[in-house]
Amino acid sequence: MAEPVSVATLGSHCALQVLKGASDEGLRTVLVCEKRRERLYKRFPFIDDMITVDSFREILAEPCQDRLRESNAVLIPHGTLIAQMNSDEIESIRTPVFGNKWILRWESDRSMKEELMRRADLRMPDPIATPEDIDGAAIVKRQGAAGGKGYFIAASADDYSAKRDTLVKSGTISADEPLYIQRYASGVLAYLQFFYSPLRGDIEFFGADQRHESDIEGLARVPAKEQLAGGVSDVPSFNVIGNTPIVLRESLLEEAYAMGERFVSASRDAVPPGMNGPFCIEGVYDEDAKFTAFEFSARIVAGTNIYMDGSPYYSLLYGEPMSMGRRIAREIRQASEAGRLGDVTT
Ligand code: AMP
Repeated sequence: MAEPVSVATLGSHCALQVLKGASDEGLRTVLVCEKRRERLYKRFPFIDDMITVDSFREILAEPCQDRLRESNAVLIPHGTLIAQMNSDEIESIRTPVFGNKWILRWESDRSMKEELMRRADLRMPDPIATPEDIDGAAIVKRQGAAGGKGYFIAASADDYSAKRDTLVKSGTISADEPLYIQRYASGVLAYLQFFYSPLRGDIEFFGADQRHESDIEGLARVPAKEQLAGGVSDVPSFNVIGNTPIVLRESLLEEAYAMGERFVSASRDAVPPGMNGPFCIEGVYDEDAKFTAFEFSARIVAGTNIYMDGSPYYSLLYGEPMSMGRRIAREIRQASEAGRLGDVTT
């Protein structure tokens, strides 16, 4: 008889939540763990097996894939997988990946990302083609899942050049790195977290969070007069340090669901089988409560870690402690019981 299905992930990002959720659903759990983090993860009793590696990139090699195959594992992709491997590498993984591994390329590539968001009819900040076109606050971003480190705000072409030079000199970005420029959207940050269930054929709104980013937030604590007097960095970064919950006005829920539904439907056309599993639409609400989306993540986001015991909206839908990790595991368990694992993995 084949091994029962198990849940595997890389030891970082949201691994604890994912594996605890799998364990709560009665599934075996496997952690691919870097040697240097073994001591940390051994503290948690719900991790059944550890595959110890020197680097996460070993997940691409035969021995690691063999062990995952022996465990009949489904791999849950998260931000660390995307940050450390390119799209070709991710697509070459033979272990079944939860959700749609093909859509991760659309998350990593800035122009594909923009296209999918446009097709989903999400309101976006205007992209700015060249530094010379900057005429007002613009945010300058790096490619891929850089986590906001090395991003900066520029107000003009000269400002852009000066700040870019500073970051190249400090080694934060490389001189030949192509940067992406977008109009700065101001408002209340909200990262909207969803789950699309291919088994139910429906979308669920899980919750929302805000990211705390350093040192753009630190700057907000320094009065303008002192900022102008100098002594604080004039290239604050957007490096994510942690997340906190935000609960939306109930009147905003309908539009949140509508955005999620449009994203799922556009993804189905653009990159079959579509946006299955967890995803996040990231942006700001302006003074008219209109949402502008500057990003999406086509997999679980670390912001769901704030709801390890269940989110407010999932307590309404499920009436039991349901984290995003557990929701993923439930979909896997139900698919496995129905002989439909192929419908929830790629
Ligand atoms: P991202 O990698 O696009 O998620 O961006 C990292 C962080 O930069 C976000 O969490 C926001 O704080 C900020 N950010 C990105 N794009 C914009 C934008 N167009 N306007 C304002 N802030 C932005």
